[in-house]
Amino acid sequence: MSDCLFCKIVAGEVPATIVREGERVVAFRDINPQAPTHVLVIPKDHHPSVAELAAADVGLLGEVLGEAHRVAVDEGVDGTGYRVVFNTGAGAGQTVFHVHAHVLGGRGLNWPPG
Ligand code: 5GP
Ligand code: ZN
Repeated sequence: MSDCLFCKIVAGEVPATIVREGERVVAFRDINPQAPTHVLVIPKDHHPSVAELAAADVGLLGEVLGEAHRVAVDEGVDGTGYRVVFNTGAGAGQTVFHVHAHVLGGRGLNWPPG
């Protein structure tokens, strides 16, 4: 999609700090990190949200999740714990409509509390 920010990152038209890249998936640092490790993992193909991706290509969704785990290992947060989040829909805080897994770690992430 020509007007999609993350498609432009895939195409190299918008710069990003890429930490892992495979044939179908790419991972790059979030521009506004919410934790010491905050990496976004996306499929190179455009799918608006995890809902569409799950329906269209669940194998590719598996690749995104596998890559999220490898990012956590590379970043050294797999031992202390990390969170993988797909905000899905504007009501859940999704602002970029190219599916992305947030990989968050490196600080306490106790949620829900208690
Ligand atoms: P969402 O709110 O859709 O779940 O997450 C979108 C994420 O993309 C946000 O955490 C935001 O900081 C990040 N983001 C927005 N624009 C850019 C950009 O140009 N480059 C990078 N690396 N991250 C971005
Ligand atoms: Zn896109």
